[in-house]
Amino acid sequence: MREDDAVQPARDAITAFIRSCENIVIFTGAGISTEAGVPDFRSPGSPWLVHKPVPFQEYMASGEARIEAWRRKFAMDDIYRHLGPGATHHFIAEGVAQGQVSAVVTQNIDNLHQRSGIPDHQIIELHGNGSYAHCLHCDRRHEIPEIRIHFERYGYPPVCDDCGGIVKSATISFGQKLPTEALRRAREAMIRADGIIVLGSSLVVRPAADLPILAAEAGARLLIVNREKTPLDSAADYVIRGDLPGVLPELWPLTDMNASSTSR
Ligand code: NAD
Repeated sequence: MREDDAVQPARDAITAFIRSCENIVIFTGAGISTEAGVPDFRSPGSPWLVHKPVPFQEYMASGEARIEAWRRKFAMDDIYRHLGPGATHHFIAEGVAQGQVSAVVTQNIDNLHQRSGIPDHQIIELHGNGSYAHCLHCDRRHEIPEIRIHFERYGYPPVCDDCGGIVKSATISFGQKLPTEALRRAREAMIRADGIIVLGSSLVVRPAADLPILAAEAGARLLIVNREKTPLDSAADYVIRGDLPGVLPELWPLTDMNASSTSR
């Protein structure tokens, strides 16, 4: 394993890694969205620490906690809902379009992978999606703007108008079980891959952070790109410490196979 601060060697290393793989899974964290303007969770000054997510047990136990959770969600939405995908999202989308990236496993809830054009079936969301809400009882989808209108009019969120159940943003809160199907699909994608690229994750949130290790144990090689150290660095084949998107190649590096089929 090597660490590398310089941009061009980092780009060369990522290019070589991509060219040596046939089936890549990209694992993303909040660090890929910071250049697009969405703050990450842990960096100093993060607004997520001011508008802290309410833990799941508290949300379920008290109407007051639900009011507070929605107040904080709307405050965070005001910070980032108008933003679009950045260069890192588009780089990943290009890898998917080339056919070399089979899946994107993400901890992000900002819906930006979808908006970069990656088909839904190739995005696996471990922590849900903050662009809509759902009923925790009957799973009916609810739209955030309608919830906000109700909240601003009455001072509390609506219950589900189908079944009276508690409505919650479709994200996974601290203390809430990860969606079983997403976790199953993520594990399957990881085990099948021959290369895993982790982009912009502190790799401290579990069980999500266990997935790259699972892939490495199944034989995949592991490349981690992050601004700071992660607990998985010692298990990686290559670690790039640097800023996204600057350390990425400008375009998705085509494999020789892609290059020859393009020139035919
Ligand atoms: P994290 O905040 O714990 O870690 C992000 C990592 O990215 C940090 O180590 C930081 O140093 C690094 N980073 C930030 N900007 C970078 C850049 N431009 N280039 C390279 N590295 C950069 O995020 P996490 O690991 O995803 O876990 C936090 C949890 O919070 C997740 O569960 C996620 O669901 C949630 N979250 C999501 C979003 C989002 O959807 N965009 C934002 C904040 C938090």
